[in-house]
Amino acid sequence: MLNFDFQNPTRIVFGQGRIADLTKLVPAQARVLILVGGASAEKTGTLAEVRQALGERHHATFAGIEPNPSYETSLRAVQQIREGGFDFLLAVGGGSVIDAVKFIAAAVHFEGDPWAILEKRGRNIARALPFGAVLTLPATGSEMNNGGVITHRAKGAKLAFSSAHCYPQFSVLDPTKTYTLPPQQLANGVVDAFVHTVEQYLTYPVGALVQDRFAEGILQTLVEVGPRILAAPEPVYDDRANLMWAATMALNGLIGAGVPQDWATHMIGHELTALHGIDHARTLAIVLPALLNERRGPKRAKLLQYAERVWGLHDGSEDERIDAAIARTRGFFESLGVPTRLGAYGLGGAQADAVVAQLQSHGMVQLGEQREITPEVSRRILEAAL
Ligand code: NAP
Ligand code: FE
Repeated sequence: MLNFDFQNPTRIVFGQGRIADLTKLVPAQARVLILVGGASAEKTGTLAEVRQALGERHHATFAGIEPNPSYETSLRAVQQIREGGFDFLLAVGGGSVIDAVKFIAAAVHFEGDPWAILEKRGRNIARALPFGAVLTLPATGSEMNNGGVITHRAKGAKLAFSSAHCYPQFSVLDPTKTYTLPPQQLANGVVDAFVHTVEQYLTYPVGALVQDRFAEGILQTLVEVGPRILAAPEPVYDDRANLMWAATMALNGLIGAGVPQDWATHMIGHELTALHGIDHARTLAIVLPALLNERRGPKRAKLLQYAERVWGLHDGSEDERIDAAIARTRGFFESLGVPTRLGAYGLGGAQADAVVAQLQSHGMVQLGEQREITPEVSRRILEAAL
């Protein structure tokens, strides 16, 4: 096992009806800015529940954080916070709203142009406003980690950042809040959580038995509940609860402690979203199967473990088992209605070239746990995903 530090300060407040606990979670004297995405938080009644729980506290709402939140919109929120003297932020939404709030919380006190935060990937964040979250979409794990991804629309750049100052103080996870999600967002959530787990698990073995078995448990849970959730005529509470907790556990630092991490699928996927607006999880479903095949040599031992323990594949030669595990992964995404080919979005070789050029311009030239995914390897992965 590799050396590691592990500290996660986010308090998780889990279960039906827990939004009422905001009364205790948000400081009594706080001036609160609630931040939401489009119309969903208002329409589903979540915003009304949040406002009721805040009671007499001074509060206002900033609406309009887009999916794949923009730098431009984030700066408008920063301005409102400075002008209104808000001292506590409350994100109500999915990964996009929570990611934006992390960036906004850091940008409010940042000296100089906040774009520098993204250029330095968050290493220059010295402090951030305190914030909490009410999660409405299980997918990203943003509710219990310190990272975010912000898109500069004008530059066409989608860049990740992280900082020890950017953990939510608390996150409320009420599984019934997922009941209003359309099937496409539920499927996206299953795929994003699955790929987060794979990015930390399917690397080279370092004898991390606990992390491996936690990861396998998350993957098996997603394989079990994902299709059931999409097929169910009515939402089933425990399935939604298991999806929500699996997605949080997939990216809160626990399974990533002391193990090599890949993240090339995410970095290539971010460029696909920035250039073509494809949903985050859908980009991952395109890249991951092709990447696993391209990297089957360095990942061989773990691919065999994955084949056996996650997919129950015991028969055939080693290469046949690896082929079957990758095929099962692709089939799982497709079974959720998530395509695994660039062609499904009308994209071809020319677009693959543009993605590689973007990766190069963002310095993404040594990706993966072995840092061997050069632009040439990224190109092969994208060509295999056509
Ligand atoms: P999202 O972009 O936050 O939300 C997608 C859509 O779902 C929005 O249109 C939203 O509508 C709607 N929605 C949210 N909750 C709903 C509900 N309860 N009922 C009905 N509709 C609802 O999706 P996401 O997948 O959670 O976040 C994706 C972003 O997170 C990407 O930018 C991705 O790069 C990033 N990400 C972050 C991390 C991390 O660790 N921080 C990891 C992976 C990905 P409204 O806008 O109307 O609310
Ligand atoms: Fe993700």
